[in-house]
Amino acid sequence: MIEAGPRPLVEISKLCKWYGDFSALHDINLTVAEGEKVVVCGPSGSGKSTMIRCINQLETHQSGTITVDGVEVKPGMKHIERIRRDVGMVFQGFNLFPHMTILDNLVLGPMRNRGMSRADATELAMWYLERVHIAEQASKYPSQLSGGQQQRVAIARALCMKPKIMLFDEPTSALDPEMIAGVLEVMIELAEEGMTMICVTHEMGFARKVADRVVFMDAGEIIELAEPETFFNDPKSDRAQAFLGQLLAH
Ligand code: ADP
Repeated sequence: MIEAGPRPLVEISKLCKWYGDFSALHDINLTVAEGEKVVVCGPSGSGKSTMIRCINQLETHQSGTITVDGVEVKPGMKHIERIRRDVGMVFQGFNLFPHMTILDNLVLGPMRNRGMSRADATELAMWYLERVHIAEQASKYPSQLSGGQQQRVAIARALCMKPKIMLFDEPTSALDPEMIAGVLEVMIELAEEGMTMICVTHEMGFARKVADRVVFMDAGEIIELAEPETFFNDPKSDRAQAFLGQLLAH
């Protein structure tokens, strides 16, 4: 009997996106299997954020297809909230509601979008806050927490929706250096537990440790797609070599 491989959770095919006349993404093809961890890197403005934002339609594309767990996501689709429930997202800037406690930030989604009771949502939220090592902060407001703590809350908030895949858009780049390790630690734990992840990040130590594949983008295109070992030790394109050289110089 032929063993079926892991099922594809995200399939991006011939994806193109323009902002007006400007081509932000050109012929992007990428399949991410269940349980796979993909790190996306590349110079600023290369389209990394736009690509992952198209997956949950925070940005809309003009041509090509994107499917999430077999369901095509497209501009104007009904039930986009169902896709967003399956696709957790963590942003550079945390995006927590400032007027709500940490706990209330976490219970909101499960109560509104998954129909959970407050008691059940609270239990779930506290479980995830434990997992990101921050349960003792549950009754505080976001401004009372450090950036690193807020980002861990944002990760817990996304997990409370029980997503099938997590997207990370430069989750550590707004953080003070001493805060970065704690957030990466949580992401590594998540990866080790088998979460499917697409992470836009320049944390190359993280990429080497957890990525199954690294995507290198430049000028709206995927230039290289390789296992970390190959990408870091033997980048094929001049552009990837220059990019890695610059990263090492910092
Ligand atoms: P990256 O994440 O790699 O830094 P982005 O995906 O944010 O790149 O941006 C890709 C390109 O699209 C950049 O040139 C950026 O200026 C442009 N862009 C992004 N968002 C918009 C927008 N809302 N309107 C016009 N151009 C945009």
